[in-house]
Amino acid sequence: MRARLSILGATGSIGRSTLDVVARHPDRFEVFAVSGHSRVDALFDICRAHRPAIAVVPDERTASSLRQRLHGLALPTLVESGEAALAAIAAAPEADIVMAAIVGAAGLVPTLAAARAGKKLLLANKEALVMAGDLLIEAVRRSGGQLLPVDSEHNAIFQCLAKHGGGEPDLRGVRRILLTASGGPFRQTPNSALASVTPDAACAHPNWVMGRKISVDSATMMNKGLEIIEAHYLFGMDAARIEVLVHPQSIVHSLVAFDDGSVIAQLGQPDMRTPIAYALAYPDRIDAGVDTLDLARIGRLDFESPDFLRFPCLELAYRALRASGTACAILNAANEEAVAAFLDGRLSFPGIAEVVAATLDAVADTRATALDDILEVDRKARAWAKERLAARTVRPA
Ligand code: NAD
Ligand code: MG
Repeated sequence: MRARLSILGATGSIGRSTLDVVARHPDRFEVFAVSGHSRVDALFDICRAHRPAIAVVPDERTASSLRQRLHGLALPTLVESGEAALAAIAAAPEADIVMAAIVGAAGLVPTLAAARAGKKLLLANKEALVMAGDLLIEAVRRSGGQLLPVDSEHNAIFQCLAKHGGGEPDLRGVRRILLTASGGPFRQTPNSALASVTPDAACAHPNWVMGRKISVDSATMMNKGLEIIEAHYLFGMDAARIEVLVHPQSIVHSLVAFDDGSVIAQLGQPDMRTPIAYALAYPDRIDAGVDTLDLARIGRLDFESPDFLRFPCLELAYRALRASGTACAILNAANEEAVAAFLDGRLSFPGIAEVVAATLDAVADTRATALDDILEVDRKARAWAKERLAARTVRPA
């Protein structure tokens, strides 16, 4: 029996890497449903190549344009639209595996729907876990589903802790988790030059090719901040036991330190097809189309401590995690608004951390854990951040 997949965010960087791995194993996987938000051409190509039963787009206008293009191609694909359709393909009985690869808070509701439906949930959409970690973990536990991290660092940690033959990761004897971070494109840029960096420069990651939002997050190191929170929920670890280690080559994807002094790391090429293939086939290992590392050619691996002054977003994430409650959802919402403003040329690069810090100060953190309460906090934090952005006098140089 082939495993059937729903891919939320199939047109994105993770979505396309997932389809690449799936296409290498037609005996193991088939694509049941896909979604895409804006790039209809890309979604059309995916439908042609993978023949899903359902394709979901944001609205009826986009749906009819895609239907028209598919018309006459004798494909089985039904085109549906809207948020309810997105949650439906995540929870559909026909789907065995759900890849959550939508970027940002927009992915929360369908990701939670997959968790509640007991799916094998492959999580790339870290923002969903940052916003609603307790809710998502509890939903997976209750439904008897499975949560497999796709983020390369968390996938690496999962691999370091994995038991032969599968099952939950074994956390006994773990002292600390060490999340590696490349430091992004501005690791060595003089602080004085950061005020004038452009969106394209921020998105030019030295090692990874990714969507624009996560690329900016990597440049501010908020990505690592979100990953600290992600690690907390995935592995039940306190903030004090999660450390960041800067490793510019992105070859060591993360490490686990044990009580006896052992440190186990996972290494590989900086290619998301490796963690995707691992999660897809877990506990088996399958070809991901990725070459074996040539360490002799790479020659050296460097490590250094993160610079908390240059990257204030790291401390903001620790602060939100220590506060617990809805602070992480507030952090995430403010960051999404600030990054969008930076990408639009409405905010300078250092302004991102300023807007996030100010929003964390201003919006009340609550203990709420229900979905509606979290979505309400998300709305409030966005509204506050937007006001702050509109009132700002600081513009990009
Ligand atoms: P991307 O921008 O390349 O793709 C995002 C996908 O989400 C697209 O399919 C897009 O159509 C869809 N989308 C965007 N806005 C939407 C909305 N409002 N409603 C519904 N769908 C929407 O992003 P990406 O780089 O593939 O990242 C996806 C997720 O995976 C992010 O949460 C990111 O942090 C995480 N992630 C990515 C990488 C990577 O290497 N790209 C690595 C680790 C984690
Ligand atoms: Mg990562």
